Amino acid sequence: MREFAYVRAASVAEAVGLEGPVTYLAGGTNLFDLMREEVERPERVVDISRLPLSAVEDLPDGGLRLGALARNAHVAADDRVRRRYPVLARALLNGASPQLRNRATVGGNLLQRTRCRYFYDLGAACGKRSPGAGCDALDGLNRGHAVLGASGSCVAVHPSDMCVALAALGATVNLTGPGGDRSVPVADFHLLPGETPDVETVLRAGELVTSVDLPPWPHVRGTYVKVRDRASYAFALVSAAVLLHVENGRIATARIALGGVAPKPWRAYAAEELLAGAPPDERIFAEAARAAVAGARPLGHNAFKIELAARLVRRTLVELV
Ligand code: SF4
Repeated sequence: MREFAYVRAASVAEAVGLEGPVTYLAGGTNLFDLMREEVERPERVVDISRLPLSAVEDLPDGGLRLGALARNAHVAADDRVRRRYPVLARALLNGASPQLRNRATVGGNLLQRTRCRYFYDLGAACGKRSPGAGCDALDGLNRGHAVLGASGSCVAVHPSDMCVALAALGATVNLTGPGGDRSVPVADFHLLPGETPDVETVLRAGELVTSVDLPPWPHVRGTYVKVRDRASYAFALVSAAVLLHVENGRIATARIALGGVAPKPWRAYAAEELLAGAPPDERIFAEAARAAVAGARPLGHNAFKIELAARLVRRTLVELV
């Protein structure tokens, strides 16, 4: 690991007021790996882990605010999350291991980086690590890579489970920085790779995630299902966060987000539109499942993900009704 300067921020204002490039440290579960492998070589690490950003609080509109430093285990165990947002509790409990969930934070989970093996291999060509260097995954071992939203520059997937649930829930990410406060829908927070795979989010220099707001979802059923190579401590091959509300024999609300298939949590908008207003039956579920993977493009080793994702969506919709 390279040498770096270490600063412990005493306040949010101090953290975002520092001059020059900074790398924020919260739980460190991904950052330390990246620094040890020298994939990331920060000059200055700003420790924000003791800032007062770890509360889980009710919002006046019936929603819930998750502090950026709330631990994944803490959020998953929160009674309000379990009762009102079971899709989020399940997604969190499907991520990593109990030890890691005790360290990992909401903000860090949002900002975790891909686990593409070539990204971590300093001898491989990787345009996410070294802009313009190319991409060894395109013709390499790409079984775990993206089938949706990728580009000729990068086919890595976003590894988070939590973010897939946040996408289905329509969460909002709250930020603060040198330019003041702003909020970004989680659907717009992560960026597709295009020609610049090294730019992964809309975060500006010096900005800090302070919290994530969940809108109220009364009466809506939801769940998160993850398919992976082993039963625990593995990233998703494909996952699905699905919300469904049926009223008077018709689907009043449907939200579908996929994980493990794209460079960001993938909202299946076309599938949601098909479902809206339809009777909840096998025919429309099968159509929605196909729509969820429309436009998918396989690489050499991951065509199975397309069928797997469609079947997962269909099965999850059936189970929810
Ligand atoms: Fe790098 Fe993305 Fe290619 Fe992986 S898929 S090697 S992260 S550019």
